[in-house]
Amino acid sequence: MSLSPESDSLPAGAGTATAWAQEDLETLAARGLRRSLEPLESAQGALVRVGGEVLINFSSNDYLGLAASPTLRAAAAAALEQYGVGTGASRLVVGDTVAHRRLEARLAAFERSEAVLLFNTGFAANTGILPALVGSGDAVFSDALNHASLVDGCRLSRARVVVYPHAEVEALARALEETPARRKLVVTDTVFSMDGDHAPLAELVSLCRERGAALMVDEAHATGVLGPRGAGLCEELGLSEQVDLRMGTLSKAFGGMGAYVATSRPVAELLLNRARPFIFSTSLPAALCAAAEAAVDVVEGDEPLRERLWRNIRRFSAGLRALGFPAEARSAIFPVILGEPARALDAARHCRERGLLVKAIRPPTVPEGTSRLRFCLSAAHTEGHIDAALEVLRGLRGVRG
Ligand code: PMP
Repeated sequence: MSLSPESDSLPAGAGTATAWAQEDLETLAARGLRRSLEPLESAQGALVRVGGEVLINFSSNDYLGLAASPTLRAAAAAALEQYGVGTGASRLVVGDTVAHRRLEARLAAFERSEAVLLFNTGFAANTGILPALVGSGDAVFSDALNHASLVDGCRLSRARVVVYPHAEVEALARALEETPARRKLVVTDTVFSMDGDHAPLAELVSLCRERGAALMVDEAHATGVLGPRGAGLCEELGLSEQVDLRMGTLSKAFGGMGAYVATSRPVAELLLNRARPFIFSTSLPAALCAAAEAAVDVVEGDEPLRERLWRNIRRFSAGLRALGFPAEARSAIFPVILGEPARALDAARHCRERGLLVKAIRPPTVPEGTSRLRFCLSAAHTEGHIDAALEVLRGLRGVRG
């Protein structure tokens, strides 16, 4: 958002919406929930420049440090040269290119799935897939801590939405039994985005099989991080073939932008025919497809890179535990829960003044009373960066109270 320095002298429109906005902004500010932007002056990486200062970045989902990688840049630059910047239309019109097809084929090989369909973002994938699969007369069962895009996908579907308590398989089993519906779909993150914990995937798979429900998972924070080849929690647990739809993003460990779903050929074809963000939105730039294709090669082939991320995860979680914070080495995400928004904002400021960029996460992103700092680790962090973060946390007074 850009505010003109001369905005006082510009016409303010009819003024009604402005009055609404001012009222709502004041309410947000009074609750410590008003947000603002802060532009980076550098590429993503372990170190970023913000406001003229170089800070250690603990808020990026660039888990493998690929966002600024020379390999990805070169792949994107070559495709940019060949295809130009924009694609000019949705894929079903004239926005489909060989770069899109190549990426889908590469991702299908990586995911060992019959088919893959690309979406422009993870948000578009989730809000497109759910309404394409279920509708009125159906029921969708959604974990209470699922990502906002899944929540919105459920709402848009017009199916009955049953939110089950976080990771509680027995409660889900009861809900599946008690809810009459034509089709039943269970949907969950595999690695939860604000807590970093895992869904009870093996139990969910057997429950869905028992009850004849379909299962969709969001692997946004697991792809590139978990699994022997980086193909997520499904791969790690050997369950890939038993999950109906596996959604992954290209915007996190893959260092770019976009998303995909790995599924059967009929499901992919139905989504191509029905998922509104796929049908009615201009396709991803070919340069991003080419960068993502290069990223899949890195993720699959560069095991030492993933091992570097895991060394950092283990070092940070051991350090947090030594400081008295509950922490487990399960993913690259570590919440430091502080309670009220003001405490999280103070803690973020404390970190910032000591060279760490780590953002306060507040409602509605997380439940009331659980505002937090959310540390995201990357393979690009050095041991020195991790130790510096732990040292700053040591000095964060009152956190453990
Ligand atoms: N799913 C999850 C679990 C996420 O955390 C996010 C993004 N934070 C998304 C989906 C949306 O992905 P994208 O940023 O590519 O739109």
